Amino acid sequence: MNRYAKQRMRMVDTQIRARGVKDGRLLKVMQTIPRHLFVEEAMTDQAYNDNPLPIGEKQTISQPYIVALMTEALSLTGKEKVLEIGTGSGYQTAILAQLADRVFSIERIASLAGRARKMLDYLNAFNVAIRVGDGTYGWKEEAPFDAILVTAGAPKVPSLLVAQLSLGGRLVIPVGSRSTQTLLKVTRLSEDIHDIKKEDLGGCRFVDLIGEHGWEN
Ligand code: SAM
Repeated sequence: MNRYAKQRMRMVDTQIRARGVKDGRLLKVMQTIPRHLFVEEAMTDQAYNDNPLPIGEKQTISQPYIVALMTEALSLTGKEKVLEIGTGSGYQTAILAQLADRVFSIERIASLAGRARKMLDYLNAFNVAIRVGDGTYGWKEEAPFDAILVTAGAPKVPSLLVAQLSLGGRLVIPVGSRSTQTLLKVTRLSEDIHDIKKEDLGGCRFVDLIGEHGWEN
């Protein structure tokens, strides 16, 4: 087993399983995705540490535990169509690609989207479509989605995104101020977009969701 594989096993055991994440498929996938390829070259030695890391353009790759917590909350079985808002490095996207049927991911910064696309192609994640743009509008042509994951902090739950969930669909999104948020799981219960169940998954800190239905740039 190479150095990074060992670090990955340790990351999953000590940062993720030890904190209560139980989804066996997710744990297995996180043992295999080479997170060190999604960080800046100078940071590869820190790739499996218990914290977020910069990826350029003032953005970050999220802490491994937060990636796991958010993904587990989507309850993926392999058949789902998933929308991700905030591709960033593409690390979270690569995990979703292995756990769902199809993944649609939107990133507002073109250079990050381009780098993520290259890495996802390198890993044969061909069930992923990436679009550059404002993800707060969702991806209407591809809706409805069984699961939507927002990886940047929003001032409120964008109702446009709830409207793009299938019945029973799950939206996981950090909501709060620009400095601190609560991770919410929103489940759509009926045709009425106000008929939702909200669950609090705990406190978190994300970069801003910038866009028409997010924060101002
Ligand atoms: N999950 C990513 C990863 O594994 O690297 C980390 C995502 S990073 C915390 C948040 C990303 O959301 C940034 O790349 C940022 O540019 C992007 N973002 C912010 N607002 C957005 C918007 N309205 N639409 C699409 N992407 C957005």
